[in-house]
Formats: sequence, C-alpha cells, structure tokens
Amino acid sequence: SAPSPQPPELQLRDIFIGVKTTQAFHGPRLGLLLDTWVSRTKDQTFIFTDRADAGLQERLGSHLVVTNCSSEHSHPALSCKMAAEFDAFLASGLQWFCHVDDDNYVNPRTLLKLLRAFPQTQDVYVGRPSLNRPIRASEPQPHNHSRTVQFWFATGGAGFCINRKLALKMVPWASGSRFVDTSALIRLPDDCTVGYIVEWKLGGRLQPCSLFHSHLETLQLLGASQLPEQVPLTALPPLSGYSLVPTAEPSMSPAVWGRG
Ligand code: UDP
Ligand code: MN
Repeated sequence: SAPSPQPPELQLRDIFIGVKTTQAFHGPRLGLLLDTWVSRTKDQTFIFTDRADAGLQERLGSHLVVTNCSSEHSHPALSCKMAAEFDAFLASGLQWFCHVDDDNYVNPRTLLKLLRAFPQTQDVYVGRPSLNRPIRASEPQPHNHSRTVQFWFATGGAGFCINRKLALKMVPWASGSRFVDTSALIRLPDDCTVGYIVEWKLGGRLQPCSLFHSHLETLQLLGASQLPEQVPLTALPPLSGYSLVPTAEPSMSPAVWGRG
C-alpha cells in the first residue's frame, strides 16, 4: 500500500506573528520594526494597537489592527490586545501563533527552524519562562473561597509561540471577551494568563526555549557567535536616553544591541 502522505513542511507563510504596540510607540518603535524584520515577514505579521494612525495604515494596510483596547498600561488593556491577537490568529487559519512585543527583534529563519522541529501531533507552547519557578495565582472558588494554583508561563516580552492544535483547546478561556475575563479572574497580566490556560486549565506544559529573549536580560552575556541563532532578539532600546537605534538592518553586534 502507498505510504501515508507526509504533512507538508512548515513554511514561514504558515506562521502568524502578532505584535503588541500602543500609540506612544508608533513613532519610536514601529518605524524601526517596519524598516527591519517586519519588512521580511510582511505577509504574516499583524500589528495590534489602540489608536488609528494614517501613516501606519498606509504602510501596513490590513496588517495594522486598530483594536478598541484602551491605551493604558493596565492588565485589562494589555489582555485586550492579546485577545485581539489570539482571535485574529484563529480567524487566519494559520498553523502557529507567535506573539512578540514591539521591542522584539524576530529572526524569521531561526523561528521557522525552531517551529519545524516540533511534531505536528503535539500541543506546543514554547517560550522563555519568566521566572525560575512556577508563578502562583489565587483562583476564586465558589462561596467566596479561593485556592492557590501554580503554573509556568512564557514572558510575553521575549515572545512565545503556540500551535493551532493547542490554541483551539484554549478557546473556552481565550477567545472573544473570555481572555480578558480569565485574566481578571486570576488578576495577572496577559502572558501569565496564557500560561494559566495552557498549564492549569489544559494540563499542557510550557516548553522552555532559550532562543527567546526579553530586554530584561543582558544580551552582552551571549557570545557574539550565538546572536544570529536567537529568535526574537529583543533589541530595540527603550524610549528615552539611548542613541544607538539602528536605522538600517541592524548589525548583530552586541555593542549595538546592548543597553549599557
Ligand atoms: N504597551 C501597551 N500599552 C501601554 C504600554 C505598553 O500596549 O500602555 C505594550 C508595548 O507596546 C509593548 C509591551 O506592551 O509591546 C511592553 O511594553 P514595554 O516594552 O514598554 O514594557 P516592558 O517590556 O518593560 O513591560
Ligand atoms: Mn519591553
């Protein structure tokens, strides 16, 4: 009999990349993103913001998603954007959902290589654990009781990815208004809420991956030879006080990427 057909190899076009931003960062951060990695991943990258912007709209077209989320730095506002990313991913029909912040640098080739390594039969939640231990949350119970729950989560600021198989199982806690509700229930930010749903509600496991980086780490600790391998290489300097913002394709030199 004929061998069972191999699933087609994962391509970049199968990956949905959601970028969370806010009006204040349209200028300082997004211009740089659009000039660098987003220009190489245009078809799969969607930018989620909180305010219409004609200039960005012109560059991004339907890939700029103006949510109704508030532009505060509050848990509900940030969870509202994560919910919008998640719903847009579900609607896209693509195979992988990857979230990054607007100060992440994504290396598409490395991302693809990483995601290709996972068997398609598995539920996958991959990213950098935020802490070196599980986080604890208080989960409300009937009759004014609560219980402490523990789970790992990937830090949103370093980027994380979830495959479609797992995302579909998350729907009861994560689609539409339910993500914001879930986040409010445990009173934790959006990235913790993802971990709560995957690990606590679904019994899944975060797969720790050191290729994801947040700007909370010091990139100088990485050897220069390791840098081209890193996936979302959070690298964009913070809003104020730094003049090393690369204007063309950034070099991989830690001197450019580092903060200090
Ligand atoms: N952000 C947002 N609304 C805000 C502040 C920040 O959506 O009011 C987004 C921001 O664009 C970024 C992410 O939240 O994608 C994290 O923000 P930032 O990098 O400034 O903070 P940190 O990494 O220190 O938490
Ligand atoms: Mn950040």
